[in-house]
Amino acid sequence: MTLVRPDDPVFNAADSDPDVDPAVDFYRHVNGGWIDANPVPPEYSRWAAFEEVRTRNEELLQRLLERAAADGGAAGSPEDLVGRYYAAGMEEERIAAAGLDPIRSLLDAASSIGSVDDLLDLLPALHEIGAGPAFGISVIPDFDDSSANLLYLDQSGLGLPERDYYTRDDDASVTLRTQYVEHLAKMLELAGQPNAPEAAAAVLELETAIAQPCYTNTQLRDMDLVINRRTLEAVAASAPRLRLPAYLENVGAHGVEEVNVENPGFFEALHEILAAAEPATLRAYAVSHLLRATASSLPSEFESEQFRFYGTILGGQQEQKPRWKRVLRAATAEIGQLVAQLYVAEAFSEEAKTRALAMVDHLLSAMGPSIRNLDWMTDETKEAALSKLSGFTPKIGYPDEWRDYTGLEFGDGPFAELRLAARRFEHARQVRKLQEPVDPHEWSMAPHEVNAYYHPLRNEIVFPAGILQPPFFDEHADDAVNYGGIGAVIGHEITHGFDDMGSRFDAEGHFRNWWTPNDREEFERRADVVADQYGDYRVLDELNVNGRLTLGENIADLGGVTIAYSALQEALDEDGRSDVAGLTPEQRFFISNARVWRSVETDEYMRLRVTTDPHSPPEFRCNGVMANLQEFADAFDVAEGAPMMRPVAQRAKIW
Ligand SMILES: [Zn+2]
Repeated sequence: MTLVRPDDPVFNAADSDPDVDPAVDFYRHVNGGWIDANPVPPEYSRWAAFEEVRTRNEELLQRLLERAAADGGAAGSPEDLVGRYYAAGMEEERIAAAGLDPIRSLLDAASSIGSVDDLLDLLPALHEIGAGPAFGISVIPDFDDSSANLLYLDQSGLGLPERDYYTRDDDASVTLRTQYVEHLAKMLELAGQPNAPEAAAAVLELETAIAQPCYTNTQLRDMDLVINRRTLEAVAASAPRLRLPAYLENVGAHGVEEVNVENPGFFEALHEILAAAEPATLRAYAVSHLLRATASSLPSEFESEQFRFYGTILGGQQEQKPRWKRVLRAATAEIGQLVAQLYVAEAFSEEAKTRALAMVDHLLSAMGPSIRNLDWMTDETKEAALSKLSGFTPKIGYPDEWRDYTGLEFGDGPFAELRLAARRFEHARQVRKLQEPVDPHEWSMAPHEVNAYYHPLRNEIVFPAGILQPPFFDEHADDAVNYGGIGAVIGHEITHGFDDMGSRFDAEGHFRNWWTPNDREEFERRADVVADQYGDYRVLDELNVNGRLTLGENIADLGGVTIAYSALQEALDEDGRSDVAGLTPEQRFFISNARVWRSVETDEYMRLRVTTDPHSPPEFRCNGVMANLQEFADAFDVAEGAPMMRPVAQRAKIW
């Protein structure tokens, strides 16, 4: 059976798999042809609609960066800074010739640590360049007062993706830890450190101790665990060996009286763990974190070894991406708003912004009735939910005011020097925010990224220009296609304001309970249904989706498609409906939604994402949602009892 005709103006019939019945596996029906034609390229660990868009964006950016590197611009202009950064990143011979010189002073300091106090004294210099031993800090809006910034003290200090990598005792995890120690030893040896194999084993032992008091990624989503306002005095007294007040003075965070401690038990344990470690272990620990943070701008033997472990062993990626893509990725992380200024000038028109904004308005207005019509929520909580909805701020494309990079200077040094300068600049900017009110123009993502986010402390939804591209958003496609694509993404981000985490924050972004106890219980009962549904999905042999880790994203996926569908109905009522290439608007909506999830990934990557990524695997982001939607069944005449659909009584519906 084929749904998409060869003459379809938007969908490619060859992407689908006519042998699979849409009532059996809609994801495979829509995407099977594409999946079979697209093995994971060797330089990727997954290939998906997101990567297709990302690759197009990268190819445009490559031209812009090369032009900036050749022509430059006025000193301090985006073209100047981006051009210098890119040119330095492409100078492989110079990077090789510089060796470890750019990090020599930090390396010497780390290699001569003789006590826990020496390590603590070095932490500010390591943290400001993005190395993460011990703990971390961030500065974001205060959960009690969203107009002010607050310092958050976070658990950190691990080299593996999360705590459970140190604690699981299945064969694959044990092997991975052996490979991790081999990797650490290789890095230490390359940097000329003594007794590398023993030192590497000791680092694993130290990190395993640090991992014990860490929260899991699932616990990190539990606001009751991670929101803990304390006086700095109290935190310092609970972990005196860490000398936190001195640390904060050294990073430039002056006059801090109150902080949020993500995980109080972590800090209490950490000071004992570090105090008990041998100096040689602390040295190897600090050096390994320094090398990890800088390897991608060091000579190729460091970069290749880092890629061998993190890219190939952990992610299943066979080959490194070409140098220009790696430099672009680093630039996006470090000077993203400068790179984005070149991008939006070429790739994002005012018309696109206007049309995207209109869609966001439609989506927000469709969320209102869906709250009002809920049969499980009392009027009191509905009022609060509607007031939260009316407090949403959308940001589309790129910031109204670009970030100020005054003071960032790139000299003529090797690449690593420019990168360290950019990271120190950004770290100082973050710390400086403590003295300033919350900036309403701040973006937490570079505008050319293929992504979107909801920020609970700001109650804002943000859609970068990078994702407002086909197949998510196509100026030339019919509305149904755009509502199934970017519309569902917009609905997804709106729903994050009402998922297991977002629903704990109010319209102003304050951590405040606006629920009656009964409504909260009803919400959690419904959320449990979602968690159980997804927790039953099998990914690889013994591995299931983690229904709790992915709960917020699954609620957002389910709500996102539901709201986008309602918004499409509103748009069709206003503008009239017509079939395109033999498909109804509803059918085109669901096909478009299934299309944005097309994806192939390596087994290693799948394993990594299931344990660390709060998003479900793409197949379930499609089928897992549609299995709950009567609207889907109606659009394709899927009979009750068909494999695609859950029985009516078992369906999840929250928003
Ligand atoms: Zn999300």
